[in-house]
Amino acid sequence: MIWTDIEDLDPMPSFTHGRIVLLGDAAHAVTPDLGQGAGLSIEDAAVLASLLGRLPIDETLHEYDARRVGRAHRLASGSRLYAKVAQWQNPLVVPLRNRVVKSIPERFMDRQLDAVLDIDFEPVQAAA
Ligand SMILES: Cc1cc2nc3c(=O)[nH]c(=O)nc-3n(C[C@H](O)[C@H](O)[C@H](O)COP(=O)(O)OP(=O)(O)OC[C@H]3O[C@@H](n4cnc5c(N)ncnc54)[C@H](O)[C@@H]3O)c2cc1C
Repeated sequence: MIWTDIEDLDPMPSFTHGRIVLLGDAAHAVTPDLGQGAGLSIEDAAVLASLLGRLPIDETLHEYDARRVGRAHRLASGSRLYAKVAQWQNPLVVPLRNRVVKSIPERFMDRQLDAVLDIDFEPVQAAA
């Protein structure tokens, strides 16, 4: 058996530095609790690809940051919270957590999932 700890990254204020751009886990490694790490990475690539060539490079990188940093941070902090709660070990608290989680209505969980999956990719305006 190979034991590998799961580690996430603390939020970074920007995924770009000069002309260096981070995508995927390099920018925002998240815990696997929401199952969104690969999805976020693909979104990064799709957004960057749609911006490249349509705007000057400095604007491209600024726009990439503007479109990606907030969403990545929201999902990363949500995922980190789920991870913390899922790993509680206090024998007094664990049964209570399990009961609360079991009693959460499915439609509430669906709404949470909708909030994660509901992303609108704004069209890129070509440079004048
Ligand atoms: C246990 C677990 C469960 C997960 N479950 C889900 C899930 O259900 N849904 C989901 O969306 N995501 C999930 N993820 C997250 C997902 O796997 C990652 O977010 C995703 O793989 C990140 O893609 P990436 O391309 O950014 O990085 P990676 O997939 O890590 O790719 C980076 C690549 O770069 C290579 N590399 C590194 N250094 C060098 C170098 N110096 N030279 C050349 N190559 C290099 C690495 O070998 C690797 O192949 C899970 C992750 C874990 C750990």
